[in-house]
Amino acid sequence: LIEVDGVTKTFHVAKSASGNSRLRALDGINLSVRRGETLGLVGESGCGKSTLARTLMMLERPDAGAVRFDGTDPFGLRGKELLEWRRRVQMVFQDPFASLNARMTAGEIIAEPWKAHRGLYKTSREREARVRELLHMVGLRPSDAKKSPQEFSGGQRQRIGIARALALNPDVIILDEPVSALDLSVQAQVLNLLNDLQQRLGVSYVFISHDLSVVRHVADRVAVMYLGRIIETGRTEDVFEHPRHPYTAALMSASP
Ligand code: ATP
Ligand code: MG
Repeated sequence: LIEVDGVTKTFHVAKSASGNSRLRALDGINLSVRRGETLGLVGESGCGKSTLARTLMMLERPDAGAVRFDGTDPFGLRGKELLEWRRRVQMVFQDPFASLNARMTAGEIIAEPWKAHRGLYKTSREREARVRELLHMVGLRPSDAKKSPQEFSGGQRQRIGIARALALNPDVIILDEPVSALDLSVQAQVLNLLNDLQQRLGVSYVFISHDLSVVRHVADRVAVMYLGRIIETGRTEDVFEHPRHPYTAALMSASP
């Protein structure tokens, strides 16, 4: 579904102590995301996980290499094709509150992506019915459409974020630390929800987390990042039980 081929991204930053004013956040990344799978992306803070996520969303342009989606480089798309591509890749962030507009109701937040994709649900009646359906899919009530984000718990807010990400029927959802801000019991509920939705919809997830136990639980495959590179990829079980790279082994043993 997605192929990342030799992607490099350098940021220009203020001169650091080492005298280097360029920071190579992504350094020759090769990665694939398959249809319907959960790919876990792990690695310590600053290794480039979010930069890679932003590149997959076309929010960052690679300096070298390419991201291909069903064989097409989205940076070459224009107009309708670009819009269609944008529909297919969605993102959920760590802090649902930061990404939800406090002045909008949950229903407006979920429906907002349709403003750019007017053809999807044409009448307001269709849109309202779809909002109710999406609320139901994420375990919220129809009456929740009228509430504002402040009236929800953290876990419920993340459910709204997920409903919004589903609003355009994407093929891939990139989840950047989606449960890190939540209590453990709420984490489990949100992870179960994500799993149920994947079974039903066949959507792929790129699941970014610093929490290895969560990744072990949800991912079909894992990619380990270190200083802008992917140093190891494999089936979750294999990577956790027989890490091939010393860094992976160190990362595993450092986590509780
Ligand atoms: P965390 O686990 O803390 O979220 P991360 O793996 O997501 O970390 P990134 O946010 O991708 O890491 O950052 C990778 C590196 O790129 C870091 O050194 C960061 O400071 C740098 N970086 C990211 N975005 C920018 C930017 N817009 N300008 C300059 N440097 C950046
Ligand atoms: Mg990050």
